[in-house]
Amino acid sequence: MADGRGKIRLFVQERLSEGAAVAAAPGQAHYLMDVMRLATGAPVLLFNGRDGEWLAELAPDGRRGCRLICRARVRAQTAPPDLWLLFAPVKKARTDFIVEKATELGAARLLPVLTRRTAAERVREDRLRATATEAAEQCGRLDVPEIDTARPLSGVLAGWPSGRALVFCDEAGDAGGAGGAPPFLAVAPAAPAAILVGPEGGFDPEEAATLRAHPAVVAASLGPRILRAETAVAAALALWQAVRGDAA
Ligand code: SAM
Repeated sequence: MADGRGKIRLFVQERLSEGAAVAAAPGQAHYLMDVMRLATGAPVLLFNGRDGEWLAELAPDGRRGCRLICRARVRAQTAPPDLWLLFAPVKKARTDFIVEKATELGAARLLPVLTRRTAAERVREDRLRATATEAAEQCGRLDVPEIDTARPLSGVLAGWPSGRALVFCDEAGDAGGAGGAPPFLAVAPAAPAAILVGPEGGFDPEEAATLRAHPAVVAASLGPRILRAETAVAAALALWQAVRGDAA
C-alpha cells in the first residue's frame, strides 16, 4: 500500500537483490494493476525484513499477474529497537488498532497474552499479521513485527527470558495516582525491554501481585486517568521510544 509519502511499498517474502524478479501475490497484483492502475515500468518499493528496501519496476505477467524487477537498493536494512509488546486482546477492532499502533510505534514483537479478565473472542493471528503488514508498508518500517500465538500470561512469565525487563502498566492506585506505581518515564528500562498492557477489565489482584513479585517486572503508571487498553499501548510505546528508543 502507499506509505505516508505516497510511495507504494510492498512487503514480500522473497530475497531481494539486483535484477531479482519478484512475483506479486494475487492480492498485490490486483492492488497494483486494478486499484492503483500502475503502468509497465512504474516504481514500487519492496522490503522483506532482511535485505533493506529496493526500488523495483512493475512488469505485467500474463492477464492479471505482474512481476516486480529489483533495480536498486534504496535503504539498507535496519532493525527496530529490541522492544516487545505484551497485550491482552480486547474487542476485534480495538485489537486491530493495538497491532496497527504497535507496528507504527516500532515494537519488534507482539505477544497476545490471555489474562484472567481477557474477554476477547478468538485471536485471529492471520488477521493481526495482515494488519501489521499493512501498517509496516504505510509507516516506512523495513520489517513486520513478529506476532506470537496467544498464550496465557502465566506461561509467558514462567519462561521469561533473562536480561529483558518487563514494564507492567499498572493502573492501580487512586485516581490521583497517589499510592500507585511510579511514572513510566521514571522506570522505563533500556532495551532489551517489554511492555505489558492489560485487558478492558484490568488485571485481577492476584495477577497484579504475581507481576509485581516477578524479578524482571517493573510497575509503571501512565498517569492519574484510566486509559483504554489501546490508548495505554500507544502512550507507553511512544514514551518508551522517546526516552529509550529510536525517537529519542
Ligand atoms: N482496571 C481498569 C479500570 O479500573 O477500569 C481498566 C483497565 S485499562 C482499560 C486496560 C489496561 O491499560 C490496564 O490493565 C493497564 O495495563 C493500562 N492502563 C490504563 N490506564 C493506565 C494508567 N493510568 N497507568 C498505567 N496503566 C494503565
